[in-house]
Amino acid sequence: MNLILFGPPAAGKGTQAKRLVESRNMVQLSTGDMLRAAIASGSELGQRVSGIMERGELVSDAIVIELIEQRLPEAEAAGGAIFDGFPRTLPQAEALDRMLAGRGRKIDLVLRLKVDDDALKARIAGRFAESGRPDDNPESFVVRLNAYNQQTAPLLPYYKAQGKLVELDGMGAIDNVAAAIDGALDS
Ligand code: AMP
Repeated sequence: MNLILFGPPAAGKGTQAKRLVESRNMVQLSTGDMLRAAIASGSELGQRVSGIMERGELVSDAIVIELIEQRLPEAEAAGGAIFDGFPRTLPQAEALDRMLAGRGRKIDLVLRLKVDDDALKARIAGRFAESGRPDDNPESFVVRLNAYNQQTAPLLPYYKAQGKLVELDGMGAIDNVAAAIDGALDS
C-alpha cells in the first residue's frame, strides 16, 4: 500500500504519518524531514536548500525527486510508503507515478486533510514557540501557505481523475482525524 498524505503545511500530515508508521509498519517518506536532516548534517545539499526552506519557498523538483527515489526500495521492503509533503508540484506527482510504475508499483490512495487557512495560522502560532522551526515564523508560513495553494492544491484534480482522492476533515482532534484515516484505509 502506497499512500499520500495530502494537505497544507501544519495540517497534521507528519503527526498522522508517524502514527501510521507505528500502527501499520509502513515507512514515512517526508521530504521536509530529509531536507532538514541534510541541513543538520551540514552537507552541500543542506547548504543549498537552507535559505530557500527558511523563506518558506519550495526547493527544486529535481532535488526532492532524487531524495524520494533513493528511499523507494526501503519503503517497498517494508510493504509501503506514506508520502508526507511529497509530491508538491505536478512534475513531482508525474515523476512519482513514473518511478513507482518502473518498479511495478503505484499510489493506492491520496488522503487529503482539509483544514481552513485561519485554523492553520492559529496552529502555527502555537507551534513556532515549541518547534523552533525557522520556517514556522508568520512571514514564512504565509509563503508556505501560498506555495500550497498555488503549486500543490492543483494536484487534487490530478488524483481525483485517477479515482484515488479521499477527502477528510482535518480540523478535529488528532484522535478523531486518526480514526477517519483508519476508516478510509480499511474500507
Ligand atoms: P515540510 O516539512 O513538508 O513542511 O517541508 C518544509 C520545507 O521543505 C518546505 O517549505 C519546502 O521548502 C521544503 N520541501 C519539503 N518537501 C518539498 C517538496 N516536495 N517540494 C519542494 N520543497 C519541499
